[in-house]
This record gives sequence, structure tokens and C-alpha cells, in this order.
Amino acid sequence: MTTRPGVPPREAATHCPYCALQCGMVLRENGRRVEVLPRQFPTNRGGLCQKGWTAAELLDHPDRLTTPLVRDRRGGELRPASWDEALDRVATGIRAVQDRYGRDAVAVFGGGGLTNEKAYALGKFARVALRTRHIDYNGRWCMSSAAAAGLRAFGVDRGLPFPLADLGRAETLLLVGANPAETMPPLLRHLADQRARGGRLIVVDPRLTATARQADLHLQPLPGTDLAVANALLHVALSEGWVDRAYVAERTSGFDEVRRTVAGYWPAEVERLSGVPVADLEATARALATVDRAIILTARGAEQHAKGVDTVTAFVNLALALGLPGRPGSGYGCLTGQGNGQGGREHGQKADQLPGYRRIDDPAAREHVARVWGVPAEDLPGPGVPAYALLDSLGTATGPGRCWSSAPTRWCPRPGRPGSSPGCATWTCWWWPTSCAPRRPSWPTWCCPSRSGPRRTAR
Ligand code: SF4
Repeated sequence: MTTRPGVPPREAATHCPYCALQCGMVLRENGRRVEVLPRQFPTNRGGLCQKGWTAAELLDHPDRLTTPLVRDRRGGELRPASWDEALDRVATGIRAVQDRYGRDAVAVFGGGGLTNEKAYALGKFARVALRTRHIDYNGRWCMSSAAAAGLRAFGVDRGLPFPLADLGRAETLLLVGANPAETMPPLLRHLADQRARGGRLIVVDPRLTATARQADLHLQPLPGTDLAVANALLHVALSEGWVDRAYVAERTSGFDEVRRTVAGYWPAEVERLSGVPVADLEATARALATVDRAIILTARGAEQHAKGVDTVTAFVNLALALGLPGRPGSGYGCLTGQGNGQGGREHGQKADQLPGYRRIDDPAAREHVARVWGVPAEDLPGPGVPAYALLDSLGTATGPGRCWSSAPTRWCPRPGRPGSSPGCATWTCWWWPTSCAPRRPSWPTWCCPSRSGPRRTAR
């Protein structure tokens, strides 16, 4: 295929699919290739990282799947198959296992890389077509601690509740457990704005990251002590009289309990525990409390450990005590990770939620969604189990024996689990969709090509 003389190359404004920054880009046909061009968009303002610039290479990569693959026996080689054959095998397999073991014998595993529409369709497929309660998604390993903390504190699970441009206007920005200089480089433009306006950047990270090197102040707690650091910051704010008492009285509840908790986090004690000097704790609390616009952001570093929910909750408590959420240019937010981790659960991939964050055990929510889907509410399955428990149950006597997966990367080792799912030798996995042939020796038994890679639609 070549471009015809006099015919301008086709272009599409779209987004990089890889991470939550969702940088704007333009795809342009250039002969047989598709090339990536910069696009002005509020999150990236024309910038892209290496993943974005090379996103179109996936479209014609030699390893890219262009046809379904099937195995004729466990451990055998994958071979190309027609769509009819592949779909027939999956449908037959689902029917056989559900007839014999019940509907919950088939599980669905979704991903934060799916668009809203695909996430919605996958959840509906699980509940209406398969009628299995076993659906969950890989976002459980992403920002789920922040989601749980958000629900606990605000009653809503929402990553970033303000535009990224607000970061550039913050007088103080506290960044906890994030290294955007390497993971989301275009976001650094907003931090540069902030610095240019005289703002202070404070980074909390055990590692001296590329982002921490740019900070005005780097708190370097020993791993696992960031919860203590958060409580110490609130301890200092209380001691110094920096808490916004009117805001706390009018807009929060439970502050007395929080006050009692942080009372024990004396800065000198926390210095001994975490290695963060008292002077740095005091300077951080002062920088957040004595300006008009301050923002606290958490990310995976604060979230992905055993006390992740409590750690994020402690930073939210600090933000609330200082009266930041709801004040222009201030607040608390979570830097999301996967391309659509937020949308993935908003649209019904979690075991306990229907689309729109509706609880699947709420009769009114079930009635509403069932009416939209045109099925009886009593036909919708009940809640399943979160992803971690779901993967551990696969192939066991009480768990599903078949899994439809839309998130192949999650089959890598998980926290506390050095290998894959313990039952993976005994269950059957179908991958849909995937862009490249899998490298696993014995599974999946079936996989189908997808159109992952740069999308053709833009916001
Ligand atoms: S920062 Fe994220 S969205 Fe932007 S180009 Fe890189 S991977 Fe893509």
C-alpha cells in the first residue's frame, strides 16, 4: 500500500493506550506504516514518552497475532485456527464445564487496559451470558488501596478529582510513592509549571528517584514506614495549631478518633522508626498548612503494600484536617496507573460491582441494571471474590476450572506468590484479547488477536 500522489495521508487524533496519563497523539498513515505525531492535549501538551512514540510499532510487529491460535492438547503447540473454529471450541468448552459443574465453574478476568466500552461489555458478558459470579480484574493490584481509602473517606472511589493543570498552580505539592519522571514523563511539564511559579515539590519515596532528585525536599522513609510519616505530619499540624477546625467541624466526622491515633506519632519517635528527620517532618507539615493551595498525591508506592489502605487513608486524613479538598487548586488525589484502571471498575469488572459502582448485592441496583440489560434481576449472579482470591482458587476443588482472561500480564508472579496461580496446571485459560503470541509453555489453550495498541478515537 502506498499513498496516492495528491491524496493527503489519513490522520486520526487519538490517545496513547498505555498509561493513565492518556497522552494525546495523532496517528498518520505513511505508506505501509503508521507514524505517531504529537498532539496538544491538556495532560501531555504535545509531549510523549518512549512508549507513546513507539506505540504504533505494535501495529505491524512480526509477533503480532493476526489469527486465533489453539492447542489440540495441553502442552502442545499453538496452531493457527479460523475464528469459527476458535469460537466454537470456546463456546463448547464453556457449555460443557458449566453443564457439569455449574455456572461459577467459569471465571472472567478483566483488565485496566480495556476501554470503558470493552469493560462494560465484559462485565455484561460475565453476568448475562455466562451468568457466573466470578469476574474481577487486574486493577486490584494497581490503585485498589486508594480506591478503598477513597470510599472510606469520601464515599466515592475516584482517582484524580481535579485537572492535572491544578498541579502547576499548587504552592506546595506532596508526592507520595510516585516517580513520574520515569513512569509518566510528560506529567513533568506540570511540575515544571509549579516550580516556575515558585511552588515547592516535596517527594516521599524510600528511593532517590529521578523525581525525588528534582524535589525541594525529599523525605526518604524506610520501606513500610510511610504510614507513620503521614500520621506524624498530622501530629505536627495538630501541635502547631495548623488544623482547619471550621472545615473539620463542618465537613468531616470521626476526627476525634484520628486525633487520638496520631497523638502517639511523636516526630522524634517517627524519626527513629522511619529515618525521616524531625526537621523535615515539620517543614513538610508547614509547607502544606501555611499556603493557600496545596495538593497531596499518592501513588503505587503508598498503596501497594500490606498497609496500603491505611497509608492512603492517613494522607487523606492529613488533607482533610488541613481543609484541602474542595478548596480551589488544593486537595487530595491518586495518580492512577493503567490506561483505564478507573473506568475498568466504574463499568462493572469488579466482583462486587455492577456498572456505575452499583453494588451487586443491592436489590435496587440489581433491578435497575437488569432492566437496562433486559433480563430478570434474579438471573444476575451474586458477588464473587476479589481477583487475588479468584486467581488462587482457579483449578482447586472449589474454584473455577476455566478462565477467560483479558489481562495476560497479570499471570506473572504476584505479591506473596512467586509463581503463577497454584492451580494453573489444572485449569484451562482462554486469552482474549491479546496482541502477541503468548510465551507460556502450556497455556492458554486458545487466544485471539485484539486491536490493542493506539486507538483511533480521541477525546
Ligand atoms: S506517559 Fe503514559 S500515556 Fe503518555 S506516552 Fe507515556 S505511556 Fe503513553
